[in-house]
Amino acid sequence: MRNVLVVLSGPSGVGKGTIAKKLVERDKNLSLSISCTTRAPRIGEINGREYFFIGKSEFKEKIAEKGFLEYSEHFENFYGTPKDFVLNKLKSGDVLLEIDVNGGLEVKKSYPDAILIMLLPPSEDEIRLRLMKRSTESAEKIKLRMQRIEYEVGKKELYDYSVVNDDLDTAILDVEKIIKNEKNK
Ligand code: ADP
Ligand code: 5GP
Repeated sequence: MRNVLVVLSGPSGVGKGTIAKKLVERDKNLSLSISCTTRAPRIGEINGREYFFIGKSEFKEKIAEKGFLEYSEHFENFYGTPKDFVLNKLKSGDVLLEIDVNGGLEVKKSYPDAILIMLLPPSEDEIRLRLMKRSTESAEKIKLRMQRIEYEVGKKELYDYSVVNDDLDTAILDVEKIIKNEKNK
């Protein structure tokens, strides 16, 4: 069986974080990647746990030496998936990346064996409900995130698999089946 790099993407609120957490809890051979960022740690965040917190110049050096599988800028800070870190992890197990659609497509370019899985909401109404229930974003931010859904879902044909996150347990089993099947290829 080979070790696989799995990318989980999908619109905000679809359940990526929830499913990623369950997947790594249930499968000891699977671990979440840790990204690099130039933003400051928030209270309670620890370097090497939530992120690798690095300076802008170090980040730029890493870009120049092609040290990221993908990177992007959000809110004036850079975020990237560190290549060596992920490739080293892959030597001893499967690795899960929870990143946006564009990031996932970039990863596929630099690591064609990556398995891209898009999580889809059962409906737009349901995703709005979930974002409201999660209560981590203002109404304005929820509106912005809703506008991005169409864009993200529109890229699903470029992904290897789509999984609808309607019933949570079913969606987890669906993703696990895909991973198991890919590992045996
Ligand atoms: P994302 O990481 O994609 O932004 P989250 O994992 O934070 O999404 O999920 C958004 C909200 O929806 C959370 O409150 C989560 O508990 C809830 N949720 C996730 N999956 C389901 C599901 N299948 N059914 C109902 N609620 C769900
Ligand atoms: P936050 O600052 O709230 O932790 O994250 C801000 C945004 O950066 C989120 O949308 C998150 O998904 C994104 N992000 C985190 N890590 C990475 C990464 O490695 N690559 C990319 N492209 N985006 C990331």
